[in-house]
Amino acid sequence: MDLDETTGTAAPPGAEPAHGLAELFPTAYRQGRATTVPRIVVKPAPLPPPASALVPEPEDLDAALAPVLDVLAGRRLAALTGAGVSTDSGIPDYRSPGSPVRQPMTFQQFCSSEAFRRHYWARNHLGWRHLRDAKPNAGHAALAALEARGLLTGLVTQNIDLLHVRAGSRAVVHLHGRYDRVKCLTCGAVIPREQHDADLVALNPGWRERHEHVADVEVAPDADVVLESTAGFRITDCACGGVLIPDVVFFGSNTPRERVAAATAIVDDAAALLVAGSSLAVMSGLRFVRRAARAGHPVVILNRGPTRGDDLATVKVDVGTSRALPYLAARLPDLAP
Ligand SMILES: [Zn+2]
Repeated sequence: MDLDETTGTAAPPGAEPAHGLAELFPTAYRQGRATTVPRIVVKPAPLPPPASALVPEPEDLDAALAPVLDVLAGRRLAALTGAGVSTDSGIPDYRSPGSPVRQPMTFQQFCSSEAFRRHYWARNHLGWRHLRDAKPNAGHAALAALEARGLLTGLVTQNIDLLHVRAGSRAVVHLHGRYDRVKCLTCGAVIPREQHDADLVALNPGWRERHEHVADVEVAPDADVVLESTAGFRITDCACGGVLIPDVVFFGSNTPRERVAAATAIVDDAAALLVAGSSLAVMSGLRFVRRAARAGHPVVILNRGPTRGDDLATVKVDVGTSRALPYLAARLPDLAP
């Protein structure tokens, strides 16, 4: 999903202004609880070409990663990961080179009217199971292996797909939340996404079956699915009457403070920072690169394509993470006890 921080700088490249839909439907947006928001139509976006087509992989991995081994050997590492580590698990990275422009729904829009929530949940109803069914790849496994050997202080991820956990990583901070939970904005109740799915299926019998064959279905990192229309989809509130929202950080809202603190501790306890598969387009990730660099710790970035942290990197390699991370995990020496 697309996210930013109110403390951040510019919106990520390719993102619409936070109030794009509000400009299209100003009256409905201002009224907040309007029930007459015009039908929202999302045109299917062209599928992005594979990132590897735009950023060639290094042919000689030994040569490309030798400087990385030099920098990281003998140090405990903090890992920071983004969408790039999950692309080889079939979850598209909408910030990779050549990706289509997306129009993320903002937190403010989600809260402003049931029409926006209906639209969001209808698309999520189709797409979330893609995240549930995704399998970790060799990059996730390599990070879990590094942690098991005591080489990581922990792992901070911008991904909501839980693939690090499934690969066996334990000290994981999900900076932007996780797809498998739904929470109530009023009473704070947390509901498993599976349970919410059963509620939505009961309210919308046959809806998923009628829509999942749509030829242009496209799964975004936040389980969005492009649909011509989501009119007629029925949603449900919490038992207390409050609004239910996925437990993920929306564009236009902030990462919870305690989560930032936990991630900061992981970075501060390490002697180097390894960034894998993130363009660092949002401040929530970039701040850790700045922090490590300020502390004088080496920063290694492995990512296909440029990142906003390139200027701060000790070493930057344009490389796929499911190829580079196993290579590094196999060669980084154990730490002295
Ligand atoms: Zn509630």
